[in-house]
Amino acid sequence: MKRREFLQRSLVGAAAFSCGWRGPAEAAAGRPRRRAVLKLSSQEGRLPGNSLREKVLKLEEWGGVGLEIGGAPADRIREIQEALKGTRVRVSALCWGSGNGDLVALDRERRAKGLAALKQALNVAGELASTGVIFVPCFHGQSDLKPEELDKILLDILPELAEHARKCRTRVLLEPLNKGETFYLNRLEQAAAICQRINHPGLGMMGDFYHMGLEEKSDREAFVTAGRWLHHVHLASRTRVLPGQDDRCFVEGFRGLQQIGYRDYCSLECGIKEGTDPEVEIPKAFRFLEQQWREAALGD
Ligand code: MG
Repeated sequence: MKRREFLQRSLVGAAAFSCGWRGPAEAAAGRPRRRAVLKLSSQEGRLPGNSLREKVLKLEEWGGVGLEIGGAPADRIREIQEALKGTRVRVSALCWGSGNGDLVALDRERRAKGLAALKQALNVAGELASTGVIFVPCFHGQSDLKPEELDKILLDILPELAEHARKCRTRVLLEPLNKGETFYLNRLEQAAAICQRINHPGLGMMGDFYHMGLEEKSDREAFVTAGRWLHHVHLASRTRVLPGQDDRCFVEGFRGLQQIGYRDYCSLECGIKEGTDPEVEIPKAFRFLEQQWREAALGD
């Protein structure tokens, strides 16, 4: 099957679903649409503080409810659980990455090593009750294969990984990136097509406002196309600093999230404008995002 055909066929199903569950039949039956919620999260590395506990307490004070962990550190499970104790903060996603592109390698040993590493990450995600493990099939320089060949490999390996994720009560989350970082999976519709083809509760995807600003025609349409498969969002401005520190607007994207009834986390993955103080700027960014969310709710 040609790549374009693959995308088109897969997306027919995805679009039908995202429109279907808020369609006229439901409205006529008087059933309320699932209400979207803005659940703010941050990567641990973005937060100031001398210990993880200190970071979590600041995050909670500023209105955050999710903590995104770098990698999937099995040796930190206890530390992370202790840091969250007695707070409203939960682990959002684990930001794992590509495993050097091992999972999409043609070399059998390399691929087996990659599969084992991601399964181990899923085990950790399960123990931490995380939304999912963020997986990028390959960055530039990690694969010589064509996108069609990579599609085929993902269709081979993802059902097994998704099943492992389901058993751990978590998910594999595909992350599309801009063309400066990878030639494969640049737009949300491409990840949604793969999710749709595999159609497994242990597989989902995410969207990152920074990459979306470079690759998508419309934030809203991209999120609506991702629909039921979307389980994580990364927040960054146009210049990849904190939301509100440049001219990036989140209203259209938030409108898309509200349209699909999104209830997973929106997590800071960004730098900070030079010379500004995270203690002041992170709570300011959260208030800015809440304001943009309210504006999105005001309708079309
Ligand atoms: Mg990201």
